[in-house]
Amino acid sequence: MIQLMINLLAPTFVLLLGLIIHWRVPNLESDQLSLLAQLPYLLCMLSGLIALFVNHARELALSLLMMVSYWIIQSFLQVRLDTDPAGQIFALMSLLLPLLMGALLILPDYGWRHPWGIATVLGGPLLALAIAGIFQIWPLWFKAQAAEMAADSFFGLKISETVGWMFVVCFLAAVGLLVAQNKKTQSSLLGCIVLVFITLGWFHLQAISATFFSCAGLLLIVNQIHSLLNLVYRDELTQIENRRALLQASKGLGQTYSLAMVDIDHFKKINDTHGHDLGDQVLKVVASKLRQVGAGGKAFRYGGEEFCILFKGKHAEDVAPKLEELRKTIAEYDMQVRDKSSRPKKQKDGMVKRGATRRKGNMRITVSMGLAETFMADKGFHDTMQQADAAMYKAKRNGRNQLRLAT
Ligand code: GH3
Ligand code: MG
Ligand code: MG
Repeated sequence: MIQLMINLLAPTFVLLLGLIIHWRVPNLESDQLSLLAQLPYLLCMLSGLIALFVNHARELALSLLMMVSYWIIQSFLQVRLDTDPAGQIFALMSLLLPLLMGALLILPDYGWRHPWGIATVLGGPLLALAIAGIFQIWPLWFKAQAAEMAADSFFGLKISETVGWMFVVCFLAAVGLLVAQNKKTQSSLLGCIVLVFITLGWFHLQAISATFFSCAGLLLIVNQIHSLLNLVYRDELTQIENRRALLQASKGLGQTYSLAMVDIDHFKKINDTHGHDLGDQVLKVVASKLRQVGAGGKAFRYGGEEFCILFKGKHAEDVAPKLEELRKTIAEYDMQVRDKSSRPKKQKDGMVKRGATRRKGNMRITVSMGLAETFMADKGFHDTMQQADAAMYKAKRNGRNQLRLAT
C-alpha cells in the first residue's frame, strides 16, 4: 500500500514541481532560461545511463523518447505551428508520443540485452526515422493530415481531438495498471504521459517543453533510484527489509531499544515434506504477521528463516506482551496445504482442474523468539543481537514455540 502511494505520489510531485517552475519562468534571467533549456538533455541522459547499467529496457526507451522528442521540439518547432513543416512535425509527434508511450505501458520488460528489449529501445527511433523518410517522399499527404488534425482541437488545446483522447486512454491505462500491478515503470510512464500532454497542449507557452521535459527526466531518475534502493534494502520474497537495512537502521537507534530474534521452528522439515514453494509461502505468511506486531516494531528478514524485530525507544518488558500475542497469532494460523499427488500432471489439465485440487489439510507454523534490550546505551548493537540470539536458542532448547527474554 505504501509502495503504491509512493508510485502515485512521485508523478504528482513532479507535476507540481513543473507547475511551480512554469510559474517562475517569467522571472528567470536569460542565462537561467538557457540553463533550463539544457536541463532535459542532462536529466534524460542520466536516466538513460542508469537504465543502461541496471538493464531496464523500458526506462531506456522512455529516456531516449523524451530526449529525441525534446531535441525535435528545440530544433524544428521553435517557430509558429501554422508554418511548414513545423505544423506537420508537431502533428506527427503529438500522434506518435501517446502511441509509443502506450506501447511501452503494455510491453513486457526483458532488459535491453534481450532481442525484444533491443526492439523496445530502438522501436521508437526507427519508427520516427521511417516516418521522416515517408515525409520526404509524400509531404502533401502529411500536410493534409496535419491540417485535418489542426481543425478539430481537443478542448481548445494545441493538440487534436484524436490525440487528446489517445492521451486520455493512455492515462487511464497507466493508472489502472499501476493500481493493479504497482510497478515503478508504470509510475514513470504515468508521469511522462501527463507531462507530455501538458507540453503539447499548451505548446505556445514560454519554456513549456524545457520545464516539463526536465520534470519527466527527473521522475525517471527518482523512480529508478528508488527501485535500486528497493533492490538493495528489500527482501524479494517477503517484501520486508533485509539484513543490510537492519544494519543501516542500527545506526540511528538512540540509547534505548529492544530487539527480537524470530526463527521458524522445524522449517527444514516443512521444506522437505511439502516442497520449497510451500516453504516460501510460509516465509511470506510469517513476514506479513511480523509486520503487524505493533508497539512501533519494525520487522526485517535477517536471512533464511530468521527474522528480527526492532523496537526503537522501547523496553523489553513493554514489547514482550506484543511478541507473545504475535507468537500466538502465528501458531493459530491455518496454513492450507494442497495435496500434491492429486495435482494434474499436465499443464493443460491443470488449468481446468487447479481450482478443484484437493486440500490435504491445514499445517501449523510455530516460531521461537529471543528478546534483548539496550538501556541507555549500556551495550553495542552487536552484543544486543547476540543476547537476543542466545535467548532464542534457549527457547528452542526449551521446546520451541515460545518467547525467551535475555538474562
Ligand atoms: P529449528 O527448529 O531448530 O530452527 O530447525 P529448522 O529446520 O527451522 O532450521 P535449519 O537451520 O535446520 O533449517 C533452515 C532451512 O531454511 C534450511 C534452508 O534450506 C531453508 N531456507 C532458507 N532460506 C529459504 C528460502 O528462502 N526459501 C525456502 N523455501 N527455504 C529456505
Ligand atoms: Mg528454524
Ligand atoms: Mg535458523
